[in-house]
Amino acid sequence: MEELASYKGHIVAFPLPLQGHINPMLILCKALVSLGFSVTFVNAESNHKRLLAHISAAPSTGIDFVPIPDHLDTPIATVDVHNSNNLLLVRNTVRKMRADFESVLKNIVSNVKVKFILSEMSVGWTQETADKFGIPKVTLFTESAASLSIQYHIPELLAKKHAPVRQGCPDLQSIDYLPGFPLMTTADIPYSLSAHAEKLDPGFAQRVERKKVLLKAKCVLVNSFDALEHGVFAGLRAKFHQTVVPVGPLLPPAFLGTENGSNKPTTLPGMWPADDTCKQWLDRQQDGTVLYVSFGSNATLTMDDFVRLARGLGLCKQLFLWVVRPTLVPGSSLDELLKVVRRNSIYEGQSCTVSWAPQLQVLLHPAVGWFVTHCGWNSTLESICAGVPMLCWPLTAEQNLNCKFIADEWKIGVRLLDDSRCIEEVITGVVESQGDSQMKTKVKKLKEAAIKESKLITKTIDDALSSKSRS
Ligand code: UDP
Repeated sequence: MEELASYKGHIVAFPLPLQGHINPMLILCKALVSLGFSVTFVNAESNHKRLLAHISAAPSTGIDFVPIPDHLDTPIATVDVHNSNNLLLVRNTVRKMRADFESVLKNIVSNVKVKFILSEMSVGWTQETADKFGIPKVTLFTESAASLSIQYHIPELLAKKHAPVRQGCPDLQSIDYLPGFPLMTTADIPYSLSAHAEKLDPGFAQRVERKKVLLKAKCVLVNSFDALEHGVFAGLRAKFHQTVVPVGPLLPPAFLGTENGSNKPTTLPGMWPADDTCKQWLDRQQDGTVLYVSFGSNATLTMDDFVRLARGLGLCKQLFLWVVRPTLVPGSSLDELLKVVRRNSIYEGQSCTVSWAPQLQVLLHPAVGWFVTHCGWNSTLESICAGVPMLCWPLTAEQNLNCKFIADEWKIGVRLLDDSRCIEEVITGVVESQGDSQMKTKVKKLKEAAIKESKLITKTIDDALSSKSRS
């Protein structure tokens, strides 16, 4: 029989209201509940409605879901944040949510003592709110430790003129002062710190403040695991003297196979209903023969790049399952996109398309051999934990940094775009070469390490939260 954890206190959680942020926060909150905390999970109203079905099906003991107005008709999580107007929309919306968050908090503190506010670096005002209410703040960082390290180093990167980077700039400079990193060049600095991002984002200059905000938190919990980024974690702690702790992979225990006696479906709350028909298509294919293609929830391609990929996938002769979101190519209808895929498939039954896939189940399906990915951090972790190597096409945010680690450091994937070869040559080269089995062996080792560490997550979190260093 499971031992009941003794009550540890109340936590108020507030995720950035985007798809890739809500899920890790929810999983972390479930771990906190199992440790003996009670949690209020404050969420944007439009997302909350979408998540309700999932949330009500989940064991909710100890988590109280409180929606607050975001004054939007469509879920904020579905907007394309790489469009500058939408980026501003997200930022303005999140800023406007502060007053309602604070009134929820005021109400809670009048009834119970709040032990921590749990939020993200990118919701900067939560630190100010925590200071105002005299409550310690714990930061969840939903990207890699390497990406976190970049945030701490923004002042240094700017001072040395290693950021903002002009994308595609031929004059690359080496960067050797990021502790625990492989040798980097300015091309590996996240796209979100590019000159292009600076132009689009009127709040760019404020990023220099992130280091200060991070350092104020009691501790920083990172959705990564030690075996993956050991050197980067060690480097961060040594240089900044802060409790920075790996608490990942924050993925459903059923997906990781760590839930006792469970055969529950491995799904995540999604912003769109997943189309399960692709699983039947996968069932008909041989093991390891399918490329799964997905660019996450909001990255976009140009029509030229969409056609280029459709052609490459067709010509490489591999089977492929492609998540063609209606918003994948701005300005083009889903119908137009599907016609392009059909026109470029070179034999009957080569492709299957869906608008939104049950990604975790797809990655675990034995037919899937490779993941053509934009290297979003959640997708990267999910691919590793399913033991699937990657073909990388980073598009935005910090995806180029993730790609650098996938391809050059962990060697569990390759870059899909190569100046000297076309897409079909890259795919054929890697799928048919020795590289395939070497990468598969490496990714399976990392998968085992991830599973091992995920079993210890609750203890790791417990230790981090009870550390007296900054409370
Ligand atoms: N996802 C999904 N079905 C899809 C495409 C994506 O369930 O068809 C999920 C995926 O499993 C991951 C998230 O959406 O958890 C995407 O997060 P990621 O960090 O990879 O990319 P982002 O959407 O933030 O760019």
